[in-house]
Amino acid sequence: MDRYEKYRQHFLKNIRKRLEEWETVDEISHQDVYGLLHSIAGTAAMIGMTDIGNYARQLMEQWREDEHKKWKATDVKERLTPLFQLCYEQQIGDVTQGEKGTKKGDEPTVLIIDDDPSFLMYVKEQLEQNGWYVVAIADPLKAVASFYDVRPDCVVIDIHMGKKTGFEVLTFLKQKLKQQFIPMIMVSIDDRKETRIKSYEMGADDFISKPFAIDEFIVRIRRQLQRKQLIDELLLLDELTHVYNRKYIKQAYEQLKSDWHRTHEPFCLAVLDIDHFKRVNDQYGHLIGDVVLKQFAQFLKANVRAHDIVIRFGGEEFVVLLPATEATEAFLVFDRLREQFERMTFQSGDMAFSCTFSTGIVEVNDPIKPIGHWIELADSALYEAKNTGRNCVVLAKQQKASHRRTVKVAIVDDDAIVRAIVTDVVQKMFTKEKVTLDLRAFKDGEQFMASDWHDGKEPCLVILDGVMPKMDGLEVLQQLRNRKDSSRYKVIMLTARKSENDIARALEFGADDYMTKPFKLLELEARIRHMLKRMN
Ligand code: GH3
Ligand code: MG
Ligand code: MG
Repeated sequence: MDRYEKYRQHFLKNIRKRLEEWETVDEISHQDVYGLLHSIAGTAAMIGMTDIGNYARQLMEQWREDEHKKWKATDVKERLTPLFQLCYEQQIGDVTQGEKGTKKGDEPTVLIIDDDPSFLMYVKEQLEQNGWYVVAIADPLKAVASFYDVRPDCVVIDIHMGKKTGFEVLTFLKQKLKQQFIPMIMVSIDDRKETRIKSYEMGADDFISKPFAIDEFIVRIRRQLQRKQLIDELLLLDELTHVYNRKYIKQAYEQLKSDWHRTHEPFCLAVLDIDHFKRVNDQYGHLIGDVVLKQFAQFLKANVRAHDIVIRFGGEEFVVLLPATEATEAFLVFDRLREQFERMTFQSGDMAFSCTFSTGIVEVNDPIKPIGHWIELADSALYEAKNTGRNCVVLAKQQKASHRRTVKVAIVDDDAIVRAIVTDVVQKMFTKEKVTLDLRAFKDGEQFMASDWHDGKEPCLVILDGVMPKMDGLEVLQQLRNRKDSSRYKVIMLTARKSENDIARALEFGADDYMTKPFKLLELEARIRHMLKRMN
């Protein structure tokens, strides 16, 4: 602790207090704003926060003319956020880990399944220093479901996880990984020859015995990630359903574009999504879910024309490209398919069930635009189909502003500075996202749990402080996890750097990710981005 530390704490405390007052008002007088800047400009430099002082001085300059004005509280906060960010990041000092590669949310994702939280914490931190995004899961029962959310590029799994469930996960993943080419690394304390042989026989790509040297572990994971990338680049077919995978879509679009330049015939792009597919998985298990996916893909291929192109876009979403087809024709095609498909039955043991799907269609009449443009339009139509009761086909309204999905984001933290800066980070991120943001900040867990704002159907990301008065974050987490609609909530826990116990419990209680405080804003942004990807 340096000699200014005590004063800095005090200084920040004052800013927090002021921010808190401002949270409850709509307007702020010029004097108040100016007063705060003035005191920051005066004090900051003296206690070793020179940048902050300079910044406050700049803001004072900019704000000087508006002497008699009343400010809207939201405007003030927006203009002051960079200042608060500086203040907050100042706390991090040099305790941060080294800079981490690209932070755009596109890093390779490693999923680690192990029932030992301290192992998870350690490995997660080490691997993240390589610029990978790491999802740590302590509950093997949750691992199977997470696998689909996370879409990992590599899975590390502990063989012995208490309750025998480790082997069940293993059996499931073995099936899955054969089809999807995701490298799987087994780790275990038990490195008897039989265990190793069994792992390899079950399809593991590597076996590493615990304890291991972390640097060797990292190299072995990197090798697997590289292998995965290579294979991904080579394969254009989806291994599960044997239709094209999403990498093919660009190539197919190029082809259709060049046809268009020749013939000037419009073509259609349809996005299909199985309705309530989650329920199929929940009720009959993922293996039956896979069967449905395979049969759905086969059904599509069998029932569209030979030159139509069927692509598995991801999960239970498919794209179909229909050359030389107008929107109205395409509508009839998919409406017919819709009727046929709802009559099909699937078998799970002696139970029979059926499924439906929804479709959004766009007619491509201007191939100068990138494929993403059309997918977005078709996606909005699909969204409308989902909203109007599913099991239907909707044509995109090309002129109308696109429908957007709504994602709720809750910031639950008793620190006003954190509330202000996280709000700002999230708002800025969403100007670029294809989704509409519905954001709220809460002072404590009780206030959040009492609010009905987060009820409903939209997915909700909760950025949750671990330590708060009244009801702390762990308690909130537990309550969320006990809800019937628990899967709607993704939770990023903010924990104290030193508190390994809190991190361990957050993982046990099913936090989807955690960050230690104080955190870097860039890192927060990257984590939120990853979480959003897992939410659509
Ligand atoms: P909606 O009608 O709104 O589309 O509801 P939904 O439940 O179909 O939609 P949602 O996107 O919430 O859930 C899709 C689920 O599909 C989540 C994921 O676990 C599952 N899933 C994704 N890929 C696979 C896969 O390869 N196999 C299986 N069995 N399930 C998958
Ligand atoms: Mg669906
Ligand atoms: Mg879906």
